[in-house]
Amino acid sequence: MTPAEARVDLSAIAHNIGVLREHASGAEVMAVVKADGYGHGMVQSARACLEAGATRLGAALVSEAVALREAGFTVPILAWIITPGESLDAAAEHGIELSAGSTVILDRIADAARRTGRTVRVHLKVDTGISRGGAPLAAWPELLDRAAALRAEGVIEVTGLWSHFACADIPGHPSIAAQLDAFDEAVTQADKKGVGADAIRHFANSAAVLTIPRARYDMVRPGIAIYGLSPIPELGDFGLRPAMTLVARVALAKRVPPGSGVSYAHLYVTDRETTLGLVPLGYADGVMRGLSNRGEVFAAGRRRRIAGRVCMDQFVIDVGDDPLAAGDEVILFGPGDHGEPTAQEWADSLGTITHEIVTRIGSRVPRVYRYDGVR
Ligand SMILES: *Cc1c(COP(=O)(O)O)cnc(C)c1O
Repeated sequence: MTPAEARVDLSAIAHNIGVLREHASGAEVMAVVKADGYGHGMVQSARACLEAGATRLGAALVSEAVALREAGFTVPILAWIITPGESLDAAAEHGIELSAGSTVILDRIADAARRTGRTVRVHLKVDTGISRGGAPLAAWPELLDRAAALRAEGVIEVTGLWSHFACADIPGHPSIAAQLDAFDEAVTQADKKGVGADAIRHFANSAAVLTIPRARYDMVRPGIAIYGLSPIPELGDFGLRPAMTLVARVALAKRVPPGSGVSYAHLYVTDRETTLGLVPLGYADGVMRGLSNRGEVFAAGRRRRIAGRVCMDQFVIDVGDDPLAAGDEVILFGPGDHGEPTAQEWADSLGTITHEIVTRIGSRVPRVYRYDGVR
């Protein structure tokens, strides 16, 4: 056993895809596996998703999409972040679908297509109100015209029309309906220019798949929900099952006298003779320093608050007079079945979202996989 590991339950991922497919009611599911499958392992997560009925993969970076292709996946793979100076030749050669939200990007895609002799499948992205990626509505007609010209030249196909929500996780937010209206208008324009005929329309991230039926269109793009974490915790868990359990083995256990200052800056001082346990994970591994003296873990039969500062590679727990020995298992977070904290509790305690908790689990922590069929 390694000092620490992230146990990933692929059955949970498969179960979650099932939940999402039910909500998608017939729309295709693109499994978003960017950022190493939200920290769960990109290739293993992708495989579990496809086996459970997802039909496509989504990545942020072109390099992630190419890595998926090189791992042997033959389904359509979309990448949506394209940066200046980055070569798109490998993407073209590997048949990666690319997002274009500007004529500049479309032209770069076309150049890669000409150089490699491949026709590149493009998803045109419209910014319907997040002011992040995508063409603003004012620039959309020009993007459609350029796409039509490049398609006529045979260098691209337009296989997708898409957008992304700003506030899908805030039920009833007025921007949701406004974005959907804007998207419908953008799709109508594409249809009028004959650009949308072979394109699938897609809009929904996890929160939208689960709560905004109108946003399903032809395909949905869930990320966080795949990994079993609720995109809208106030509304519950939607029947999703957290896939990751982060565990570590106590590296050292020792008795210390009352008044012992623990870890940097002595933020914690023992008030009695007690047993301390050293846990070999720190902020370099994704145990954020903000959890110092407040985050909880499960050890020696119950919850323990982290004692003092979280360091780069380690932190300390105080288990009082309970038995604790080097080698004992500490559960940092998991589904909560054994009384351990959840990633959601960590996120709440840090004022963040679970996306940040799981994606930050560092590369020193091996991912260990378990699969016992779909439950
Ligand atoms: C990350 C991402 C998703 C998935 O979002 P979740 O909130 O994790 O479901 C979908 N679409 C785009 C464009 C993304 O960047």
